[in-house]
Amino acid sequence: MTTHTNTWFYYLLFILFSLVNIPIEAQDAQGEKPNFIIIFADDLGYGDLSSYGHPSIKTPYLDRMAEEGQKWTNFYVAASVCTPSRAAILTGRLPVRSGMASSKRRVLFPDSKGGLPASEITLAEHLKSAGYNTACIGKWHLGHKDAFLPTTHGFDYYFGIPYSNDMDRTSQLPYREYLMQADEKIKTEDFNVPLYRNTEIIERPVNQNTITKRYSEETINYIKEHKKSPFFVYLAHNLPHVPLFVSEEYKGKSARGLYGDIIEEIDAGVGDIMNFLEEEGLAENTILVFTSDNGPWLTFKEKGGSAGLLRAGKGTTWEGGMREPALFWGPGTIKPGLRHDLGSSMDLFVTFSKMAGLEVPTDREMDGVDISGTLLNGNPSTRKSILYYRGTEIYAVRIGKYKAHYITQGEYGEFGKREEHEPPILYNLDTDPSEQFELTGDYTDVLNEFDLILEQHNAKLVKGKDQLVERE
Ligand code: MG
Repeated sequence: MTTHTNTWFYYLLFILFSLVNIPIEAQDAQGEKPNFIIIFADDLGYGDLSSYGHPSIKTPYLDRMAEEGQKWTNFYVAASVCTPSRAAILTGRLPVRSGMASSKRRVLFPDSKGGLPASEITLAEHLKSAGYNTACIGKWHLGHKDAFLPTTHGFDYYFGIPYSNDMDRTSQLPYREYLMQADEKIKTEDFNVPLYRNTEIIERPVNQNTITKRYSEETINYIKEHKKSPFFVYLAHNLPHVPLFVSEEYKGKSARGLYGDIIEEIDAGVGDIMNFLEEEGLAENTILVFTSDNGPWLTFKEKGGSAGLLRAGKGTTWEGGMREPALFWGPGTIKPGLRHDLGSSMDLFVTFSKMAGLEVPTDREMDGVDISGTLLNGNPSTRKSILYYRGTEIYAVRIGKYKAHYITQGEYGEFGKREEHEPPILYNLDTDPSEQFELTGDYTDVLNEFDLILEQHNAKLVKGKDQLVERE
């Protein structure tokens, strides 16, 4: 062969090699790196699913996740209200570190100037560095200014509302008076909340009647388009946060009333996603998680959910405020079983990073731990304690079965009388999950353990600049 032919020969060989290799590489990547879907409900309580004991709400698909996957009974979020809880699940860090918790305002509002700082690394951003396609579908609530939208935080795609569905209210009635009216008097057009696609507002006011269904559909469409490479979808439903809205198809279906209709519509969407994953052969390589951002909004009576046997609800550091249903599904991947281990929404960052072959950031304090040993092999969870923050203060701590309350307070405003406890009120959550019976007697050793945990935590704590306080 002449030199000239040689060059062509090798060139052709190179092209053939590349052609053969592209699909193999893509397949390998798909085979090695699991896909992740987190479904995050809003204000859904510990007792709101039939698999967690609700007697009249039917959730067959979530129950199927529980049966075929792992159902956790001691799984916590990092805050009992929206904004800080969302910051924590996406960063694997306590919201006090990012400034997404405040002692002045509990969440972001449409007049807020702040948001999740660019210096924070979200799970989406982190997974992107390992080649993931990432989508945020649903409620964001981590800053609605351009600088803070999901697309600035590692999400390739965003379809959703930037803050809560009860904001931008146009009715002249006082907030609570309006919301406590009969269901048929609550209109979706009374909330001038925008719906975004990426950085554009595409609908305002968003039609909240159809939003639950649309979020589930968007999720399936996104996966359809990105199933060839690993993907991460964060599906954060607006509901069942008040005001309550449901599509015609689900209206009047549940014995629990409108609230139940909504849970059942969310459940149906979970079923559609599971079925789709199975049809596409993606189920074995996808971890599907279902949990909620905080406990039920009890002061809204039947319009709020149920914490089951847990005490109190949203806004508090009682169990009902921060312990949530948590279901993990992945046939052949997630080891089925009922888990009484401690877990936290912040653990998802660390766990999924590890499963994607990524190191966890070492330039900052992380509050999540790796629970993949529990999820994949059924080993005991590596998490030993839970810190219950309200705003920027620790109100309570759980170590193993014991929980100590240093400060207790009701939900909001008129309902929220603050009391400090020295020594702390102690409960045994194994024998008394409803926090009804204060432990008396000598618990010096137990209390010393609490002191040590708090000392270690506080010694390393750097509070982020308050992002919730500044308003326009
Ligand atoms: Mg919430």
